[in-house]
Amino acid sequence: MTSNTDLLRRSLDAVWHPCSQMKHYERFPLVPIARGEGVWLYDCNGKRYLDTVSSWWVNLFGHCNPRINAAIADQLGRLEHVMLAGFTHEPVVQLSERLGALAPAGLGHCFYGSDGASATEIALKMSAHYWRNRGQADKTRFISLKNSYHGETLGALSVTDVALFRDAYGALITQQAVVPSPDGRNAEAGESAEAYALRCAEQLELHLQQHHAQLAAFIIEPLVQGAAGMAMYHPVYLRRARELCAQYEVHLIADEIAVGMGRTGTMFACEQASIVPDFLLISKGITGGYLPLSIVMTSDPVYQAFYADETARGFLHSHSYTGNPLACRAALATLDIFAEDDVLRANRDKTRELNRLAAPLREHPKVKHFRNTGMIWAFEVESPHVDFAQRCFMLALEHELLLRPMGKTVYFMPPYVIDAAEMQLLVARTLKIIETLT
Ligand SMILES: *Cc1c(COP(=O)(O)O)cnc(C)c1O
Repeated sequence: MTSNTDLLRRSLDAVWHPCSQMKHYERFPLVPIARGEGVWLYDCNGKRYLDTVSSWWVNLFGHCNPRINAAIADQLGRLEHVMLAGFTHEPVVQLSERLGALAPAGLGHCFYGSDGASATEIALKMSAHYWRNRGQADKTRFISLKNSYHGETLGALSVTDVALFRDAYGALITQQAVVPSPDGRNAEAGESAEAYALRCAEQLELHLQQHHAQLAAFIIEPLVQGAAGMAMYHPVYLRRARELCAQYEVHLIADEIAVGMGRTGTMFACEQASIVPDFLLISKGITGGYLPLSIVMTSDPVYQAFYADETARGFLHSHSYTGNPLACRAALATLDIFAEDDVLRANRDKTRELNRLAAPLREHPKVKHFRNTGMIWAFEVESPHVDFAQRCFMLALEHELLLRPMGKTVYFMPPYVIDAAEMQLLVARTLKIIETLT
């Protein structure tokens, strides 16, 4: 049996961890995880942590979910992988058909990638290539929202407005323009979130008026800008963005990598604005948090612009594991659970229950901007500690919680299988932690 300390030492020797300054692990050690079950993760000594961040926003139905496990095991006995160029298989076809039926109408073509950032890359390439195929080769620029996050490969970073992730690579990136974010926290005193969103949409319109001839697409995180600190905004912004993009002939790319798969209360966040984007990006929760997979869904007009005799007019992007059957089966099992358990309805009850339980948090004098969309909750904590995020993370571990604040923003994004007792524990212990840190 591996011990916690042994695992930590070997990890620091051999593994370069993501999103980390490795030296910081001297003060804030890694958390060794030996196994998971439901919302809980366990270390080598059996100490447990409630996974309130769904393991970086990917897990939907708990760790080691028996139904997803069974689907992957069944697929393992049939076909682990085959290349998708020139070949096809039942899981990828079924998944594409089912997503086509679930997504906003008209997005019937699925292109497969390996992770969120690659879905962003695919959408940017497909958009610009579409305009080129249509004889508008000048449309090569993109816009995103202030504080946007769309992944960390070079193309994705070009539409990601997080200086910390981007600045070291500035020379390698074609920086794209940003437009104001409708983030409801920035509304003026007395201004509604809706009015503020409409005001931001006017700025978008000005930008489109001036630059549409060079613009291929506007990429946006619908309803919640996750990495910006769970910035939530009014759906009217999406409706205006859809109208304006259509008017100025600029694609709308909905990055639902974090907010898709029921996270905002509907299967896709775009539904809450009744819009159909030109590209819909799915990843993270699609496999229930089991295997890397992403999907770019798009419309028939986009697809038709590539359909021709010449090879070069086609979309030649590929990666080795495109449409991996194991990942597709995990995704199909995930969709089965949504249907069989009427998950969206069950989540509405859970949202109501957690909002009720969280009243003391919402009313806490050091808690600001308490907000909720579907199965995402967030609030800012007025704490004197500059290293609040790390202190909160460490203290939470002592209270059996895996909390990963972004700056002074604490958020809950739990797996959908969280039950009432676990929600109660989550709120009670978070309150204790906040008492200690304020
Ligand atoms: C996580 C995320 C990505 C990137 O996905 P990866 O799988 O981490 O590359 C892109 N967009 C949004 C909105 C995300 O939350």
